[in-house]
Amino acid sequence: MRRYSAFAIAREAARYHTGWERAWRSPAPKKEYDVIIIGAGGHGLATAYYLGKNHGITNIAVLEKGWLGGGNTGRNTTIIRSNYLQDASAAIYEKARSLYETMSQDLNMNVMFSPRGVMMLAQTEAEKRGYLRTAHANALQGVQTDFIPPARVKELVPIINLTGPRYPVLGALWQARGGTARHDAVAWGYARACSDMGMDIIQKCEVTGIEQAAGQVTAVQTTRGRIGCGKLAMVVAGHSTALADMAGFRLPIESVPLQALVSEPIKPAINVVVMANTVHGYMSQSDKGELVIGGGADGYNSYTQRGSFHHVEETVRALVETFPMISRLKMMRQWGGIVDMTGDRSPILSRTPLGGCFINAGWGTGGFKSIPGSGWAMAELVANGTPGSLASAFGLERFREGRFIDESVAAGVAH
Ligand SMILES: Cc1cc2nc3c(=O)[nH]c(=O)nc-3n(C[C@H](O)[C@H](O)[C@H](O)COP(=O)(O)OP(=O)(O)OC[C@H]3O[C@@H](n4cnc5c(N)ncnc54)[C@H](O)[C@@H]3O)c2cc1C
Repeated sequence: MRRYSAFAIAREAARYHTGWERAWRSPAPKKEYDVIIIGAGGHGLATAYYLGKNHGITNIAVLEKGWLGGGNTGRNTTIIRSNYLQDASAAIYEKARSLYETMSQDLNMNVMFSPRGVMMLAQTEAEKRGYLRTAHANALQGVQTDFIPPARVKELVPIINLTGPRYPVLGALWQARGGTARHDAVAWGYARACSDMGMDIIQKCEVTGIEQAAGQVTAVQTTRGRIGCGKLAMVVAGHSTALADMAGFRLPIESVPLQALVSEPIKPAINVVVMANTVHGYMSQSDKGELVIGGGADGYNSYTQRGSFHHVEETVRALVETFPMISRLKMMRQWGGIVDMTGDRSPILSRTPLGGCFINAGWGTGGFKSIPGSGWAMAELVANGTPGSLASAFGLERFREGRFIDESVAAGVAH
């Protein structure tokens, strides 16, 4: 595949952009693969990419029921940070954040990683204590993050209202090298690199059944026929329990809608990401000028990927308290995705009761930021059959053994 470069842009500009190749092939499924990955979201594609890059396994199909990146990966608000509380979480999220730093060069695709800084406002004494504790834990874990006072918050975000009608800003947990990236480009970059390594990405191919013999996975049934596999990785976010049902095991996961919206575009007003978790709203500004806004997850289980009016009202009300100047903006679009929530708000990267079948799920409202780290760790798990150091704490057995990785402060509401 030809590399993208400034020279290539100049060459194509001179010939009216007629020479660009397709970024990935669209092959028909083969009869059998060494590894099948279900789900062409960021996590599934990153798993395929690192299986090829780190472990030399390329006889892989990534099966996607819709279009690649069309699940949560293309619907999220792209916040990237790694300041989680527990050691196991900080390790995998920091691995991911550090891989984002060089992702554009690694994938030869501009993923627009923008380390503009992410702040989580402390608006109650309990929240402040929680974030101070996180900042101390991060110092021990080698994750760069600070607790900053209100005056510094105001300096970084001049449009913020520090006193608030309900909650004052008491400070914030601030990660200066956190930020955002273009979510579609992350999926496209991995897809292009995987296709270039000879892997098959098969869109409009829904997995409808899983075949097994003597406790081992042997094949998947799909809307495009039966496809045999040596190993199977399920990486389908909000649809994980449906896939686990097909394989005959249960997961401690609930699927709930999470919504977001964008305003009309305005001139640059805010150049960091702000999360106000007590009032339930967060906001950043896209390169097009739109304010990208999200809030809490819906309070009911559903597989419906769409927005709702009550959510706009609740989230915008929370943000108008925090940023009064947005009160006169028009909201342009809203949408929803289905996220997969575990009880301890931590992910699952695990072997399953079915031999040769692995699962990556439970990233809930915060799995965009972890895509490269998760793919790295999942590839290790699938290739070796046992988890490496990044994934070892995230096995399914923790729910049976009571070894929870409690991230309710870092991920219960925040993204
Ligand atoms: C509104 C919203 C805002 C968010 N904001 C953030 C944020 O700011 N920061 C952050 O870090 N995270 C955020 N997240 C969470 C993040 O988007 C997800 O954790 C992450 O994208 C999950 O990626 P994935 O690859 O696991 O899943 P997905 O991208 O959902 O991919 C799974 C794929 O599996 C496919 N699939 C499902 N069933 C089948 C089947 N039977 N056969 C074949 N294919 C199937 C789906 O079509 C889908 O494309 C947000 C999520 C939402 C919805």
